Amino acid sequence: RILSNIGLTCPVRFNHLLLLSLVILLDSKAQQTELEWISYPPNGWEEISGLDENYTPIRTYQVCQVMEPNQNNWLRTNWIEKGNAQRIFVELKFTLRDCNSLPGVVGTCKETFNLYYQETDSEVGRSLRENQYVKIDTIAADESFTQGDLGERKMKLNTEVRIIGPLSRRGFYLAFQDVGACIALVSVKVYYKKCWSIIENLATFPDTVTGSEFSSLVEVEGMCVSDAEEEAENSPKMHCSAEGEWLVPIGKCICKAGFHQKGDACEPCGRGFYKSSSQDLQCSRCPAHSFNDREGSWRCDCEDGYYRALSDPPSVACTRPPSAPQNLVYNINQTTVSLEWSPPADTGGRNDVTYRVICRRCSWEPEECVPCGPNVGYSPAQSGLVDTYVTILDLLAHANYTFEVEAVNGVSDLSRTQRLFAAVSIATGQAAPSQVSEVIKEKVQQRSIQLSWQEPHQPNGVITEYEIKYYEKDQKDRIYSTVRSKSTSATVNNLKPSTAYVFQIRAFTEAGYGTYGPRLEITTKEEATAAIVSSEQNPVIIIAVVAVAGTIILVFMVFGFIIGRRHCGYSKADQEGDEELYFQFKFPGTKTYIDPETYEDPNRAVHQFAKELDASCIKIERVIGAGEFGEVCSGRLKLPGKRDVSVAIKTLKVGYTEKQRRDFLCEASIMGQFDHPNVVHLEGVVTRGKPVMIVIEYMENGSLDGFLRKHDGQFTVIQLVGMLRGIAAGMRYLSDMGYVHRDLAARNILVNSNLVCKVSDFGLSRVIDDDPEAVYTTTGGKIPVRWTAPEAIQYRKFTSASDVWSYGIVMWEVMSYGERPYWDMSNQDVIKAIEEGYRLPAPMDCPPGLHQLMLDCWQKDRAERPKFDQIVGILDKMIRNPNTLKTPVGTCTRPISPLLDQSTPDFTAFCTVGEWLEAIKMERYRDNFTAAGYSSLESVARMSIEDVMSLGITLVGHQKKIMSSIQTMRAQMLHLHGTGVQV
Ligand code: AMP
Repeated sequence: RILSNIGLTCPVRFNHLLLLSLVILLDSKAQQTELEWISYPPNGWEEISGLDENYTPIRTYQVCQVMEPNQNNWLRTNWIEKGNAQRIFVELKFTLRDCNSLPGVVGTCKETFNLYYQETDSEVGRSLRENQYVKIDTIAADESFTQGDLGERKMKLNTEVRIIGPLSRRGFYLAFQDVGACIALVSVKVYYKKCWSIIENLATFPDTVTGSEFSSLVEVEGMCVSDAEEEAENSPKMHCSAEGEWLVPIGKCICKAGFHQKGDACEPCGRGFYKSSSQDLQCSRCPAHSFNDREGSWRCDCEDGYYRALSDPPSVACTRPPSAPQNLVYNINQTTVSLEWSPPADTGGRNDVTYRVICRRCSWEPEECVPCGPNVGYSPAQSGLVDTYVTILDLLAHANYTFEVEAVNGVSDLSRTQRLFAAVSIATGQAAPSQVSEVIKEKVQQRSIQLSWQEPHQPNGVITEYEIKYYEKDQKDRIYSTVRSKSTSATVNNLKPSTAYVFQIRAFTEAGYGTYGPRLEITTKEEATAAIVSSEQNPVIIIAVVAVAGTIILVFMVFGFIIGRRHCGYSKADQEGDEELYFQFKFPGTKTYIDPETYEDPNRAVHQFAKELDASCIKIERVIGAGEFGEVCSGRLKLPGKRDVSVAIKTLKVGYTEKQRRDFLCEASIMGQFDHPNVVHLEGVVTRGKPVMIVIEYMENGSLDGFLRKHDGQFTVIQLVGMLRGIAAGMRYLSDMGYVHRDLAARNILVNSNLVCKVSDFGLSRVIDDDPEAVYTTTGGKIPVRWTAPEAIQYRKFTSASDVWSYGIVMWEVMSYGERPYWDMSNQDVIKAIEEGYRLPAPMDCPPGLHQLMLDCWQKDRAERPKFDQIVGILDKMIRNPNTLKTPVGTCTRPISPLLDQSTPDFTAFCTVGEWLEAIKMERYRDNFTAAGYSSLESVARMSIEDVMSLGITLVGHQKKIMSSIQTMRAQMLHLHGTGVQV
């Protein structure tokens, strides 16, 4: 028929991009088999086969009822599922016959047809109801063809595209209504457009269906490709246009750390490379001292011993802690220590080196060092020091410290290797207490003012007394008075009414007075008009009272002296209560020791001087020694409202006699009267329970003799002198109280963890019984011969002066680290040797000044011996001027002889032949010795009388003198070296 020859040669051109963006829902040309669309009425649209312009077989529908009027022929497609599409494109290709070219069809022939659609969610069967269709358009041909065209096979193919939408149902039908035209539907193509998935800027954008409106852009979020991440605040976006084109890219993805971009993907960095940040474009080679052996690394690992600080970027080299500071030197000024050092040789590759100081206070066991705590000050700081010096303040007096100076840099805290530091061990000197600053006026009267105050922050020892200095403000401090108090309060009497006074207080310890605190000005009250004069206000009465009191004390002291301290009398002397001592009236400054045996009832004496403790407050932990009366234990004492303290507990063994109990408690009665930092302190006694106990402060290092032997050679001379100074101070206190120890020896000195030495072992008869060193002498009674002064051995003259003799022996014990005085000589030989004038020589490394002090203590005439007060003064001077303690260079310091005859030169003092000759007043022969080649004392000691004569010494007297000296020297050397000198 007419349309069978419809030309199909017209080329169909598609825009390449658009083609890419199309999703075809229906393409009639693609189907080779029957389309089987619904056509109604049956004589209307007809399905036929044909060839397209490329001669490819196609299925088409045609209709050509141009001769009949009132045509209404419908053709409906199969159901088209729309998928995601919202806007559907319908492209029709058709040919249409020109009515003019058809004869006899005027009035009935049409040149258009209508296009409809119907939305449904599913197929609706094969019946066709016109009214259910929505008209899309009337389609007219742009070009129609005539009969003549057919002959030329010149096809006039029309292409019309219509858009429908937005669609809301799952699918739709298209319908073509012919009202009397001659048409061939060459192809029907239904499609929608979408933007196909792409990767842009390392982000994937998924397939995206275009928007429903022509002008709308669909915004699409991109997803980063693997190992990429969104650039901060710049997430990738693109816009899908209605035409299915991606437009307007915004934001981007970038390769993660450890990955770099290659094309549209991210690839891992290779081994030995890293990329630390997504912002970096390229992978970089590992920096110095770092490596990695994995791909895709964001950083490189440090080699062993090298580190990266948290703040170090991965791009910098790995570094290590610095080496120790160098050349650490110190300077001690009382309780202040200055340290200075040079920078470390190796800064570890960093330039952020600072220094920190670690302060530890040590007891004399090296492992017992504890951190110095917050009371110690550091100037400018303890850590973070940029400069190579620091000053450490507020240390404890007479304490041993270790300071470690460590150089640190940014990686020190990361390092697990051993810390490198420079260290010094330092013993601080003594120091006076700090200022008394917090003074409160408690009560202000017309003639008296009561003050109280707080203990200074740094007592640097045990405060034994406070001194209150005061003066009338108008007088300035030209004339001032002082009042002393043992407690932290005092009343100053005898003031003028309505007068402004200035008060200043200072504390006193064994190290002396501290500086005065700030001035406190107080004005006394106005005088009362009434003429009542109280005893407080009347100086006459005061003087009278003082005189009476003074007399009583004097009588008491004389009485005490007469009855003798080791005699059990029956007087009932009471302990004086001297809270305050008024110096203006010259009251005795110190308490007096009261012999407990003067008490009729020894129990009373104990309770007079010792506190009764509740046994439940005491926890015994372990046995530490054996005393004469039972075990000595260590333990803890916890008094209500107080911190618990370490204590030594002496127990009285079961089955004791009454005398033993009395003697045992006697020590407490004596010790309880003492209160001094260098005298062992009694905490209390338990007499009301069993076992009977004496509780004493715990002295961690035990007896001094054993302690020194254990630490032979480990202390500096200053430290040893510090110990001696403490013992002397304790003895000064005891002698001031009128107490004679009788058994002063290193074994009876206890040492605490701070190396503070305290006098201990107080008793009466048992003092000596208890001492294994004590032996019976011909004068009766047991005496520790080696420690005892000759007059005490001979006629039992025990005094503070005989204690000074013993103190000299203690000095020798200390300086020789616990050597036994007079070595293994017998007691009898010792007594004899002393009687003949021999004295112990200077121990090894003992400064001559100290040996001289020992010799002074061993003066035969006890009146010539120094007093303990003087000894303390001499030792203090030595401590203040450590140069005096230096053993002069070139001096022989070994004791040459166990005994030193004071009339014989001490060969320990000489090193040269010249010095020796000078000492024996034979220096005129110096050249003779030199010329003959006698350059050392050893060679001289080997000389015989012939050798001496051969030197050209002709005078027989001189020969004898030199020879006798050589023999003494030889004897001394023999003792020293054991093997002796071969003559
Ligand atoms: P004594 O009976 O006082 O000679 O004590 C016997 C032993 O116990 C002494 O040699 C010390 O080793 C030890 N000792 C005594 N008192 C104390 C104390 N307060 N602190 C530590 N140990 C002590």
